[in-house]
Amino acid sequence: MHLKAYNNRLCRKVVPAAPTEDEEGDDKPPDQRLLQTAPSYPQPFFTPSVKSRIIYFSQQRTRQTNPVSRAFRKKFYPQVPTKLWNSWQWQVNNRIRTAGQLKRFLALSPDESAALENPGAKLPLGVTPYYMSLVDRNDAQSPIRRTVIPTICETLRSPGEEDDPLGEDSQSPVPGLVHRYPDRVLLLATDFCSTFCRYCTRSRVVGHNSIYPSRSRLEAAFDYIEATPSVRDVLLSGGDPLMLGDEKLNWILTRLRSIKHVEIIRIGTKVPAVLPQRITPQLVKMLRNHHPLWMSLHFIHPDECTPETHRACTMLADAGIPLGSQTVLLKGVNDSVETMTSLMHGLMKMRVRPYYLYQCDPITGSASFRTPVQKGLEILAGMRGFTSGYAVPTYVVDAPGGGGKIPLMPDYMAGRDEAGELILRNYKGDLHRYPDCQENPVF
Ligand code: SF4
Repeated sequence: MHLKAYNNRLCRKVVPAAPTEDEEGDDKPPDQRLLQTAPSYPQPFFTPSVKSRIIYFSQQRTRQTNPVSRAFRKKFYPQVPTKLWNSWQWQVNNRIRTAGQLKRFLALSPDESAALENPGAKLPLGVTPYYMSLVDRNDAQSPIRRTVIPTICETLRSPGEEDDPLGEDSQSPVPGLVHRYPDRVLLLATDFCSTFCRYCTRSRVVGHNSIYPSRSRLEAAFDYIEATPSVRDVLLSGGDPLMLGDEKLNWILTRLRSIKHVEIIRIGTKVPAVLPQRITPQLVKMLRNHHPLWMSLHFIHPDECTPETHRACTMLADAGIPLGSQTVLLKGVNDSVETMTSLMHGLMKMRVRPYYLYQCDPITGSASFRTPVQKGLEILAGMRGFTSGYAVPTYVVDAPGGGGKIPLMPDYMAGRDEAGELILRNYKGDLHRYPDCQENPVF
């Protein structure tokens, strides 16, 4: 279809009325919202026909789960039936949020205990039972545990660290919308996440009930996008946008789609890793109405590539949503060639294309997570050529102060010889000559 005709068709779509705040309840703090609306069991979807219910419940029975999560559930939630465990609302309502709850699952280290007793922590604690099942119970230094259980280190500010190192607040023309690059904007849909990452770049806002998905705030963002024709790409992020109800999310996507010059919508989410149960047939059916829709999925370790997550990514990929990954380079979590390669291979098997490897931003309290940039370059050099090019992400530093992403590569140019030929270093370190041509005005 011709692009213009396609855009016109999209623009003719009827924008549904925004759910009223009373209907959706999204202006209330997330916990209250979910407690009010969570059903005990997943709701039947599409049509209430007998056939669809049979298909749905047979899918539930055959759903693959990883043995670690199964053993965890048997030990800590023996009374919880499979259907309830697989309900994303149940997972969110039963997040682990206090030191007392944590002690049931983990032997806390002194550093962890000290952090949990410290009221000055910048991010609240929150871990879904599913993701807790992937956390090592005894080793406080194990990778996934380090990323979700607070330690006293995050309360210490090191030189160069800031609460808003990327200067997002100074590049927000309206609350919750960041306009840094010429043709795209970042729209923060909500500040709520089902699981809080201790290295979160937006820990100054995330989990603090400061960015509600209220109609008035979102309408102000839509007005700005509408009035800015250079914006062709909107990244919906947060917080985690998939923590909104289907109806609210549908309204946001439809509203964005109604803006003529918005060509691409992207959703940034960690849900497939921490709450794969959220990827329901209803959600996927709704999302596929908003193509071209892309997703950036946040993963940090190969242990996240479980059958549950595989299933969630398969559903999204089958709906025609291109999936790319975002990974933060974290000390002691994924800062080795082996771990990073294993993660990228796991992602490719789930049809997620490795996209960005981020140098960890210098947010307050991040020193225990940050590696030297040299480490990232070594990891890339250890991957490039040794595995599929598709498996090698682009390594970027997000420049402090709002300078944007700057890609970094190991240096493969070794110089030029006297004849002007390029001397290049291949992935094994061998030198090769390339007869580089000079600019010739004749051709
Ligand atoms: S999922 Fe993203 S926004 Fe939420 S805490 Fe983790 S890094 Fe921050």
